[in-house]
This record gives sequence, C-alpha cells and structure tokens, in this order.
Amino acid sequence: MGSADWRFDLAEGCPAHCQYCYLAGSLSGPPVTRVYADLDEILDGLAEYEGRGTITSRRAARRDEGTTFEASCYTDPLALEHLTGSWRRAIEHFGAWDAPVQLRWTTKFGDVASLVGLGHHGRTRVRFSVDCLPVTTRYEGGTSPLGTGRPGCGGSRSTGTRSV
Ligand code: SF4
Repeated sequence: MGSADWRFDLAEGCPAHCQYCYLAGSLSGPPVTRVYADLDEILDGLAEYEGRGTITSRRAARRDEGTTFEASCYTDPLALEHLTGSWRRAIEHFGAWDAPVQLRWTTKFGDVASLVGLGHHGRTRVRFSVDCLPVTTRYEGGTSPLGTGRPGCGGSRSTGTRSV
C-alpha cells in the first residue's frame, strides 16, 4: 500500500549507505548520489497533480490530508539538506501552496536546524525512522547516531512540522 498519492524526487541516492537499504538494488548506474538543480521546475510541475490522487486520497482515514506527495522514496532528505537546501525550498513551496496538499518525507537524520521557523502551514509531515542499538551502529553507520539528534522529535516540534 503506498504512503502517498504521488512521488517526486529532488535527489536519488543516499550517502548513508545503510547495509539493508533497498536503494542499492533499486537505482540504476553507479552508486552515487545525484541531486537535482531544477527545483523550481520540479516544484512548479506538481500543481497539475493536485486533486488527482488515487492512493491516500481514496482512503477515508486519510482523505483529510488532501493530495499527498512523497519526497523520500529514493533518498533521505536530511542527509543532503546541508548541501542543497532543497527540502527547505520544498517545505516553503508547500507552505505557500494554498490548497489541500501534503508534502511527506522520512529520515534517519536529526539535523532540522535549517528548517526551524519555515512557513510550512501544516502541509509537511515528517516521519522519523528510529532503530535500536546495535542496528544503528552496525547497519546504519552513515546516519545520525542515536542520542545526537535522531529522531529529532524535539527538533521537529520546534519546526512545527508534524512527525508521526
Ligand atoms: S538513510 Fe534511508 S535512504 Fe539512506 S541509506 Fe539508510 S535506509 Fe537508505
């Protein structure tokens, strides 16, 4: 069952290289991380999909979320945010998009400092992925260590974005 009506990508690949990550077998080409520079075109292009969702939009329990857009299928947004600022732009885009829409992404990183104070207007939902020791140290060596930011729930509260 899909987590959102639509998917869009601002990057493909993840520098964390968790040992079990499905990206290793899902992305074609060399194991590099690609980030996209045409952010305005990507974000502006989402408008035509509003109101046309068939996954969460059709479920009674989630219909109130509006049209949902998942942005972390092929990367971990917070792994790259300090380099690109892309997800800050995406949160601001959805915040200014005065329509029943939701931006969604998930992360194993905890640095949300650059997102604090953004005008998200409740249209971004973040899911923090948290595993226990020793999984985090053995298999997720490139992510934020437990206790140093992840899951970042305190940080997300300070941004006002929703975490589930
Ligand atoms: S942080 Fe997430 S996207 Fe990145 S390698 Fe680990 S499981 Fe994959």
